[in-house]
Amino acid sequence: MGDRNIILVGAPGSGKGTQAKRLLDAYGLQQISTGDMLRSARRAGTELGERTQAYMDAGKLVPDDLIIELMRARLAEADVRNGFVLDGFPRTGAQAMALDRMLQDGGRALSHVFVVDVSDDVIVERITGRLSCPSCGFVHHVRFSPPREPGVCGRCGASGLYQREDDTEAKVRVRLSAYASVREEVIPHYSAQGLVTWIDGLQPPDVVFAEIRSVLETEAS
Ligand code: AMP
Repeated sequence: MGDRNIILVGAPGSGKGTQAKRLLDAYGLQQISTGDMLRSARRAGTELGERTQAYMDAGKLVPDDLIIELMRARLAEADVRNGFVLDGFPRTGAQAMALDRMLQDGGRALSHVFVVDVSDDVIVERITGRLSCPSCGFVHHVRFSPPREPGVCGRCGASGLYQREDDTEAKVRVRLSAYASVREEVIPHYSAQGLVTWIDGLQPPDVVFAEIRSVLETEAS
């Protein structure tokens, strides 16, 4: 059996992050999230953090050359040799081509690309309905998991549940428009290589994970 080198693709709000965590736990893979790496660069006050801050705040893609160099350094580290889950990369055709070359140079290859597919309208409904707790950060949803008492956190009891600034429809639509290059460039790139499995992201998270798992296990046996 070859290494499991997986790309998880999904729009913001598709539930891709949840699936990434489950994959790590189930298969001992290393998660590589460019978004997390950029946020920690920013917290650490590095040059990369400074150069990428404005793009991130605007919900726009960071230029390819910066992201590709970040990924090249990360893929050279020892902990990803036994398999990884890429989350949030590649987001453009140029990034996908650079990734193919980097892996090839290291004698590695991708094994699977999973697309967690959810329509834009569903994502807008999911994200704009979120109510965040100002105290513990717990997230309710006006429709799917409303607080028992309006405005009051069901976990810690604090009042003042609010909509995060990022979770307004206008902001969500901007983030979704940045996803267009994934739909138009990245998915076709890997479809042409026969690596893509589409998963219906409207299903409950357990069912989504069961489908991912069955693909991984069928091909491993
Ligand atoms: P994420 O947490 O994956 O949604 O990423 C947060 C932000 O980081 C994005 O909105 C982009 O500004 C930036 N970013 C993360 N990954 C990439 C990437 N592969 N290409 C370009 N920008 C990225």
